[in-house]
Amino acid sequence: MLAHRIVVIGAGYSGLAAAGRAARRAGTPGAEVTLVNAAPHFVERVRLHQLAAGQEPRERPLRDALRGSGAELVVGRVTGLDPGRREVLVDTGAGSDSLPYDTLVYALGSAAGTGGVPGAAEHALSVSTGPEARRSHARIAGLASGGGSVAVVGGGLTGVEAAAELAESHPGLRVRLLTSGEPGAALSERGRRHLDGALERLGVDVRANSRVVRVDGSGLTLADGASVPADAVLWSTGFAVPDIAERAGLAVDASGRVLVDERLRAVSDPDVYAVGDAALVTGPSGIPLRMACATGLPMGLYAADAITGRLAGREPAPFRFRYYAQCVSLGRRDGLIQFVDADDTARESVLTGRAAARVKEAVVRGAAWAARNPGPYTPRARRARSAARPEAVLR
Ligand SMILES: Cc1cc2nc3c(=O)[nH]c(=O)nc-3n(C[C@H](O)[C@H](O)[C@H](O)COP(=O)(O)OP(=O)(O)OC[C@H]3O[C@@H](n4cnc5c(N)ncnc54)[C@H](O)[C@@H]3O)c2cc1C
Repeated sequence: MLAHRIVVIGAGYSGLAAAGRAARRAGTPGAEVTLVNAAPHFVERVRLHQLAAGQEPRERPLRDALRGSGAELVVGRVTGLDPGRREVLVDTGAGSDSLPYDTLVYALGSAAGTGGVPGAAEHALSVSTGPEARRSHARIAGLASGGGSVAVVGGGLTGVEAAAELAESHPGLRVRLLTSGEPGAALSERGRRHLDGALERLGVDVRANSRVVRVDGSGLTLADGASVPADAVLWSTGFAVPDIAERAGLAVDASGRVLVDERLRAVSDPDVYAVGDAALVTGPSGIPLRMACATGLPMGLYAADAITGRLAGREPAPFRFRYYAQCVSLGRRDGLIQFVDADDTARESVLTGRAAARVKEAVVRGAAWAARNPGPYTPRARRARSAARPEAVLR
């Protein structure tokens, strides 16, 4: 029997978890799993603000993560899809190739979105992808020693984490945080109070209710016409997804995220599953899940189980997800764990300070570990039983 070809494109939290788990689960009936990624290593995106601030995260080769799973790795850039022929087009550097699939897992993640603000794409830095964060580090490290300034634009959790990390790592750098509303607007009252205090302690100059409408080589222009000078601008107003799905004719929303059903299958193509930032998945109370490793990782695990389950003749139960907490780093010595309801609405309870920083670090390590070691895990009792069986046969 010909093996069923599962191709996973994108080796972030969701794609790596999907490929590793599908490969470990496949076998009955036979399937082969191929993972395609632009870089040969796993990028811990949730640490990229640390990289921009000068900390060097550990490089984790994808080959090591896949060792023993049976999955193949192709290092190359996906340039297109042909769903009609069920092929992925890959540029490996040595030329273009087409990779056939029977089932595709689309997990290409996201990068910085500039929201169409003039000058942002040309002049601003970001912490959204590995290469961007490295570029930010090179520019900001040069400014820090000379008392230069950086303006972080965007008061969501990524912008807040970036501003705090830069300010803590470079006390000589003048760090400003500009946002159209309030920083950490979705947090509880207590959460916001802690966040404001931390940013003040770190010397971050927060400009709330400041909408940026233009970026140029000397800084920013606000909606009210005011100019804000900055030696560097770090853009962090949200993520944008690649246009590969849209170009291939898959049904996507206005931002290009793949529309999926409750089993994470593309609504326009049952041979395609979409997971992570690149998929539009609805959570509790009908709100799309936020782009997060906290949501992408379970999606990747689910897709692997759904695909291999279907190959074995089992219809998967719908994907279910609930939130528990938002984990925010405020430099290396402070943090905020904001406990939330199932639909991500902030509760009043928070954990703050060093304890929160330690929890956040554990969560970040745990996420990278889980993406590289996605199971399935055999319960200890069953492992013991199956280990015992060959002996019984020998007797
Ligand atoms: C600084 C920062 C802090 C964050 N903090 C948190 C946090 O605390 N908690 C949280 O839950 N989330 C956080 N996030 C968000 C989180 O990192 C993303 O939501 C998550 O990484 C998405 O996972 P993914 O698998 O969808 O895609 P990604 O992790 O983005 O991986 C996509 C992969 O696809 C590859 N790829 C893309 N295009 C191509 C192509 N054309 N060809 C081949 N390969 C390609 C990329 O190289 C990458 O390896 C943070 C993000 C940033 C930038």
